[in-house]
Amino acid sequence: MERSDVVVIGAGPAGLFGAIHAAAPGTRVLVLEKNERPGAKLLLSGSGQCNLTHGGEIRELILHYGDHGKFAKPALMSFSNTALMNFFTKRGLPMVSEENGKIFPKTKSAEDVLEILLAECRKRGVVIRCSEPVQTVSRQDGLFTITTPSGQYLSHTVVITTGGRSYPRCGTTGDGYRLAESLGQPVTETAPALAPLLIRPFPFASLSGISFEQMRFSVWRGGKKIAEHTGDLLFTHLGLSGPGILDASRGIHPGDVIKLSFAGPLRREEFAAEIAKRAAENTGWQVSTILAKYPIPERLNRKLLKLAGIPEDLKCSHFSGEMRSALVTNCTEFPLTVERLGDFAVAMATRGGIALEEVKAKTMESKIVPGLFFAGEVLDIDGDTGGYNLQAAFSTGYCAGTAIQKKLSSMAERSDP
Ligand SMILES: Cc1cc2nc3c(=O)[nH]c(=O)nc-3n(C[C@H](O)[C@H](O)[C@H](O)COP(=O)(O)OP(=O)(O)OC[C@H]3O[C@@H](n4cnc5c(N)ncnc54)[C@H](O)[C@@H]3O)c2cc1C
Repeated sequence: MERSDVVVIGAGPAGLFGAIHAAAPGTRVLVLEKNERPGAKLLLSGSGQCNLTHGGEIRELILHYGDHGKFAKPALMSFSNTALMNFFTKRGLPMVSEENGKIFPKTKSAEDVLEILLAECRKRGVVIRCSEPVQTVSRQDGLFTITTPSGQYLSHTVVITTGGRSYPRCGTTGDGYRLAESLGQPVTETAPALAPLLIRPFPFASLSGISFEQMRFSVWRGGKKIAEHTGDLLFTHLGLSGPGILDASRGIHPGDVIKLSFAGPLRREEFAAEIAKRAAENTGWQVSTILAKYPIPERLNRKLLKLAGIPEDLKCSHFSGEMRSALVTNCTEFPLTVERLGDFAVAMATRGGIALEEVKAKTMESKIVPGLFFAGEVLDIDGDTGGYNLQAAFSTGYCAGTAIQKKLSSMAERSDP
């Protein structure tokens, strides 16, 4: 049986970064990865361009992890977005920041990010074994036994970095939850996060591909407004997607009603007053000409008229109060009922995971099983779109890695007479 000081399960960004920071001269660090090659999901990130992190102060960053920003704070403070950018810049991969705060490698290549992580692993003597799916982990007399189809490994410490359940084709099928539970570590219920919405009936299916910048939309449950958001939105064949919807999906349930506003910043009353004035002043215009004054694409313009029961060529002189009211509703609070959220096959992250109450926020070590660590998406932390999930993976990986290195060196000191 091969013996290691650290076994990391899963070679995603959290696992690789944990391994890099756990490594030290004389420390045997082994990464076991299920897939044939490491970093499958990292390579897909940001459509292959890798939105590595987000600009801003830590106090702003933590607002993007829902209720779990408080837990993530010590990790983000230990290894911040600036530290992450410096790590790659120092190794020859400079970063670029976009206007919206998203940070990418200058080459816009996730391959380049992965290559730096793998080069750093090689430099520090980290061994990565691929096609090694971990089946079980047990602990006896302070040593972990890790089983894969090809054999067993012994280790003083284990880091579970198996990611979540989303995009299972990347190898992320939720194995880490089962491994953690088998060691007595509690896991909260998991669900898709950063998920598109399936809307039924969806009247805009024929307009799929149309996107909107900074659209205002509200979420209604049981007839009451529960949230209001502004963000970029996309019509799909089946419903709504785009960063604004993915971020809001954390607080959206099946049966909720989403009300879309196509009227820019105008509220219902303001929009109603404006179109009434324009119609009265331009009785010879078609109603569609009024709508064209707003950020409403032409195909949507026609659709909104049709759905309000207004003929495409209707002149403002024949624009009745009833028609106006229907059009105002369509343009400022178009109601769409959420049938369900996209499942793990399409969601970009996982909500829920290793329960944070039983994990130490500064070191990522289990409060229940000494020597067992977690990092990355397997934890019950999910961030908004925009680089927050990769930042959390790197920051928690860093905390676990550095804590393990400290733990191993204090163990070595104790055993050294
Ligand atoms: C399409 C897509 C695009 C994304 N784009 C971005 C983006 O631009 N910016 C951003 O911040 N976030 C993005 N994310 C989210 C981000 O990629 C993840 O949050 C991040 O990769 C999590 O890192 P991780 O190391 O925790 O887990 P993962 O990257 O999921 O890695 C886990 C690894 O563990 C391995 N594994 C699982 N089970 C076992 C087992 N039993 N034995 C051995 N190995 C195992 C898996 O094969 C996998 O390689 C995106 C996600 C998706 C799906």
